[in-house]
Amino acid sequence: MSAFLLKNASVVCFDPISIEDCDLRIDQGKVVARDKTLIAQENDEIVDCSNKLIFPGIVCAHTHLYSALARGMPAPKQTPTNFHEILKYVWWQLDQALDEETIYWSAIAGGLDAIRSGTTTLIDHHASPKAITNSLSIIKQALSELGLRAALCYEVTDRNGLEGRNLGVKENRDALASSGGLYRALVGGHAAFTLDNTSLKMLADLAKEFNCGVHIHVAEGLLDEEDAPTRYQMSLVERLEKTKVLRPGSILAHCTHFDKEALRIAKMSGCWLVHNPRSNMNNSVGYAKVSDFGPRCALGTDGIGADMFEEAKFAFYKSRDAKTSLSAETVLSLLAGGQHLASEIFDEQLQTLNVGATADLVLFDYPSPTPLSAENFAWHFIFGMSAAQVSSVMVAGRFLLRNGNYQTINPAQAMEKARQATIKLWEKMQQI
Ligand SMILES: [Zn+2]
Repeated sequence: MSAFLLKNASVVCFDPISIEDCDLRIDQGKVVARDKTLIAQENDEIVDCSNKLIFPGIVCAHTHLYSALARGMPAPKQTPTNFHEILKYVWWQLDQALDEETIYWSAIAGGLDAIRSGTTTLIDHHASPKAITNSLSIIKQALSELGLRAALCYEVTDRNGLEGRNLGVKENRDALASSGGLYRALVGGHAAFTLDNTSLKMLADLAKEFNCGVHIHVAEGLLDEEDAPTRYQMSLVERLEKTKVLRPGSILAHCTHFDKEALRIAKMSGCWLVHNPRSNMNNSVGYAKVSDFGPRCALGTDGIGADMFEEAKFAFYKSRDAKTSLSAETVLSLLAGGQHLASEIFDEQLQTLNVGATADLVLFDYPSPTPLSAENFAWHFIFGMSAAQVSSVMVAGRFLLRNGNYQTINPAQAMEKARQATIKLWEKMQQI
């Protein structure tokens, strides 16, 4: 593996926010030295980072790579009028049509987007009911060709019968058993309203067995919140608590309709809460009480690409619009939360670029017309920074993007193959 000496950079950390002019030496996938001036060692490749910021790789804490081939797809046969119909007429049509080929190209297309945006870790939530077995291996294969880091899971649900549920659980188990390197697994569940208590307990038991979290949609729409009292005579949070889905490391995506008490219980259980502002706005499901999410919270795209600069801006502007006014520092802390979450899942330092940290990092062109400091960095992030300024991206000491050029894949060829696969996918959707 190559060793690199990154010279003359401004190294940024999101939590606590700091900026330091220094050199970084990267070897064997780790930051092995950090100082004002480092001397190149034999075999070091020197990379001049003058006028560049370097920060730890960004994490998307909730996404669906399987939706990467959805952009521009034909309108659904029936126009959805609520969130449940959006699931029924759009996403549950798409996931039914996925096969091994389109799972692979979805992961490649979504992964290309992540690299270009400086997103080095994807926490993915996958569904392909007609191709469950090996689906996570296929995603892992695609992402390993690109060199991205990911925590994968299969979203178990009861909506495809017991056989579908059991295959989903087995797919999670197989992924957990083969975790390692750049890949980890969590236990995936769709949402409580499509899982009975036996199924929820199966997920919790598997998570306990592998000492990991359950990754599940929670209170995204009112439907999930209303289902628990109607069918189980208890609140959604009580149901998740009773079935032990709430456990340290569980990822609760959305929590749009959780009140303060439900949030308190989720936080007490050591769960991570993930805000997905663009998706929530797109589905008109409401606005989560993000300011009550506490320290274990992060941002996700929910499958709308992997551009976390854009997601952060939406988190900021949505809060302004809703008059809850999250500060830029709070929004940046959501991105820092994603890095902490990834550090926890991988048991590696992915939130800093201190000595000993894993070399997942972004080189960023940012010739600011105004002074930049640790005190105002978060405001620069919201008002001045975008994925367009991502210059180079490294995961575990390997460049995946260098000066704007992909290093591990021919993007034009990959896009062409993805388009060919998409044509078949969309035709298949029309026949469902
Ligand atoms: Zn989701």
